[in-house]
Amino acid sequence: MKQCSVCGQFKELSKSNFYPSLREHDGFHHTCRTCSVDKFKNKEQKRDNAYFSAQGNIQLARKEKKEENLLNYINGLKKCSRCEEVKPLSNFYKNSKTSDKLTSWCKCCTKERHLAYQRDNVVKEQNDNRGTDH
Ligand SMILES: [Zn+2]
Ligand SMILES: [Zn+2]
Repeated sequence: MKQCSVCGQFKELSKSNFYPSLREHDGFHHTCRTCSVDKFKNKEQKRDNAYFSAQGNIQLARKEKKEENLLNYINGLKKCSRCEEVKPLSNFYKNSKTSDKLTSWCKCCTKERHLAYQRDNVVKEQNDNRGTDH
């Protein structure tokens, strides 16, 4: 007799109850045939489920984002990808390179970046001048 490590049942040690295994000292698997098959099926199932749910989530997330964007667009709104605020389309600069012909950042964010860029350049210029003073 051999006890199955999964269901705990004692079964006659034979090939009809246990799969042969070279790794086990008695030459048979420590789980009975029924449990071995179940375990294998569960493993496959789990892997498939994980795969499909991950795929589904990505697709769902993509779909939701698309729908959200579309809905905003119909309402004359757009979500700024920087501050993530939904603002009227008039708050976005025109940009012929994008699919909706508008910048992905709102005017505020674009301005902010522009100012930051200018500020950086001014600082850089000042540094440059300081450098030439010597
Ligand atoms: Zn079993
Ligand atoms: Zn913004």
